[in-house]
Amino acid sequence: MAIEGSRFTRRKEDFECANCRRDIKGNGYTNHCPHCLWSRHVDISPGDRQSSCRGLMEPIGSVYEGGGYIIVQRCQSCDHLWRNKASRRDSTEAILALMGKPVPWNKLCASPIHLPPRARN
Ligand SMILES: [Zn+2]
Ligand SMILES: [Zn+2]
Repeated sequence: MAIEGSRFTRRKEDFECANCRRDIKGNGYTNHCPHCLWSRHVDISPGDRQSSCRGLMEPIGSVYEGGGYIIVQRCQSCDHLWRNKASRRDSTEAILALMGKPVPWNKLCASPIHLPPRARN
């Protein structure tokens, strides 16, 4: 697994992006790739890493909300929809490229456990 990234101390949250194959340094808050915004379906609730799905999460849209960007991802294996708060290191270009894409918001609202923590209640 460690090919180019072996010069780094690999922590638990570090990963290789399954889509663009870049080595990503995890920061403990996000598990999506800051370059292409893909990730893996590893959480049931945000951050818990309890999902056994491990499918690829494809970014399908983005929205500007509450002072930050939200990336909407869909799992290619189980079709789960996920709202992912963009982090500051994410590629703004990639986020903007997703703006205006059709997102099935009605389905998204039916899965409240995937709302980012600050948006609960
Ligand atoms: Zn990537
Ligand atoms: Zn999944």
